[in-house]
Amino acid sequence: MDIEVARYSTCPEDGCSVTFQGPLQLRNHLALKHAFVYNVEKKSFSSFQDFTVWKDTQEKEAVVSFVQHCGIKRPQDATVTYFYCHRSGSSVSTSVGKRQARTSSKVGVCCTASMIVTVDNVSGVVALEYCDTHYGHTHDLKFARLTQSEKEMIAGMLTGKLSADVILDKIRDSLQGSVERIHLLSKQDIANIERSFGLNRVQRNGDDATSVKLMFKELESLGDANPVVHCKFQGEDQGELLNNIAIDDMFLVIQHPLQLEMMKEFGSRGICVDASHGTNGYNFQLITVLVIDEYGEGFPCAWLISNREDSSVLTEFFKLLYSRTGDITPP
Ligand SMILES: [Zn+2]
Ligand SMILES: [Zn+2]
Repeated sequence: MDIEVARYSTCPEDGCSVTFQGPLQLRNHLALKHAFVYNVEKKSFSSFQDFTVWKDTQEKEAVVSFVQHCGIKRPQDATVTYFYCHRSGSSVSTSVGKRQARTSSKVGVCCTASMIVTVDNVSGVVALEYCDTHYGHTHDLKFARLTQSEKEMIAGMLTGKLSADVILDKIRDSLQGSVERIHLLSKQDIANIERSFGLNRVQRNGDDATSVKLMFKELESLGDANPVVHCKFQGEDQGELLNNIAIDDMFLVIQHPLQLEMMKEFGSRGICVDASHGTNGYNFQLITVLVIDEYGEGFPCAWLISNREDSSVLTEFFKLLYSRTGDITPP
């Protein structure tokens, strides 16, 4: 996203009417006339990617973000991009009539902080001139932006079909120590990310069951190698094999023939059961049965996906597994 910096602004210091254009001119003027002290440091990065990673951390720590300014200069062999503090610029109200009180992240004046990034077109090496001295605004979490890597993480969760509520829970649960912008994530943020990553075209809930059913139909052609041991979708009757599974329960058991062999071979050493929550938007739980293989590593040998993990569901799960493995007894 680009920002427009007001073409000409007037110096915000009391009694001064000097005009300037953009953060670089402002800080020169402030330093000359108003004893403003700012810091500029030079850094270099081996690639633009490395720079972006560093920028992300920097923004998070300082609760600010630097947004690309529209102007890009292309001198020979290099590309120069300007990033200005996103609190820079002025928000222009286009509303007519009664004025509304608006909360805007734009302070009326320019901020002095900037990043001037010069990328060598041949080597890709990045030379950075970084002014980390801000002016005219506080560092308010409320106005901070999510970093690119945070947005990508949320987009990844959306691709994994997690609902906005589940994502919010996960992010808030991840809070350790100080509150960062990401912990203030809102449903609006999620909707914006969904739109900017073009994810709203992704298939939604209703179709998932249908596409899974179609996939299972294809798997049937594998015969003995079909890993789907039992599948009862929500809204279906439990059938003869199962007991105490309600009509609105999901009960899907998966065990590949290789997993069955591993369970028969190593099950006598002990069987572990593990439950994972919050991996999908349907609140289905994933129950994994593991054995310890010859290397002492846990080897998953069956999965259950269900909306419940109580004794009646687990009993049916283990009955099904037992019908396949037969007796497994400790040596
Ligand atoms: Zn001035
Ligand atoms: Zn700033």
